[in-house]
Amino acid sequence: MKIVKIFLFVFFVGLLTGCANTNNNVGRDALGAPSFDTPTPSVTPAPSVDPPAISNQRDDYHRPLHGDTDIPAAPSVTPAVPPSPTPGGHGNPPLQQDISAVFNYNDLIDLADLNAGFIFDIKYATDDNFLGIPLYETPLCLAHTDLAEILLKAQEKAAEYNLRLVIYDVYRPMSAQKTMYELTPPDKRAYVAKPGASANHPKGVAVDCALADADGNLLPMPSAFDEFTKRASVTYSGGTAEETANRDLLINIMTEAGLKVAAGEWWHYSVVNSKDYSGLDISFDEFTEIRYTQSIP
Ligand SMILES: [Zn+2]
Repeated sequence: MKIVKIFLFVFFVGLLTGCANTNNNVGRDALGAPSFDTPTPSVTPAPSVDPPAISNQRDDYHRPLHGDTDIPAAPSVTPAVPPSPTPGGHGNPPLQQDISAVFNYNDLIDLADLNAGFIFDIKYATDDNFLGIPLYETPLCLAHTDLAEILLKAQEKAAEYNLRLVIYDVYRPMSAQKTMYELTPPDKRAYVAKPGASANHPKGVAVDCALADADGNLLPMPSAFDEFTKRASVTYSGGTAEETANRDLLINIMTEAGLKVAAGEWWHYSVVNSKDYSGLDISFDEFTEIRYTQSIP
């Protein structure tokens, strides 16, 4: 009987050992296959996802918000001209500047007083112009009140596209016009008005301008400002589609506001009845001095 018990004991121990070995084998085999006891977490390959399209932020900036996510990325990093104005100019309130409320001297006002959203880059108060020297003592931007009224409309129109007018020059004292004309090489004088009745900048009724986005980045144009070449012509067709569209948008904004464009200079606009105005030779210092004197009670 004792022998039988010993036999049974050995038998059961043998059985248990065999099971343990079996399990161990399954475990080792499971290195490359699913395990029955401790399943190896299966690694599910990530679903194949197309990389997100790289968005052209500036293009998005101008794009009307229609929730459209399928628009392919634009290849260019330069801002594209929106095809149509954004109604309400992203909620910009209508401009309501009261021109009669700002300081006026000989019908000239400082456009900065209007707080209209213009960007001023008065080139002739710096050496960053085609002459290479400053013509003005200060970077004031004076304009006749009649032109100022029109420029408010133009800026309001530009704001509908979320754009801003960049103003390079408006009123130019007649003496500065004379200096400019004399310093201009004879072969380029077709681009500079002779001092006198035909010069509209000294009347304060002509403006040189461009367009920028809301952050102040200039929109590319077919030529630089004051580039006296055929590329400056309003009919030049050799620019990129974007440059041409920007130029035409500027021309549309300005002419719809009531100005006429110079055929050879996409940046130059004047009132249609410029002959009704007279040139002035009030210096910027004089304007500032009179203003200061009048502000003293
Ligand atoms: Zn001009």
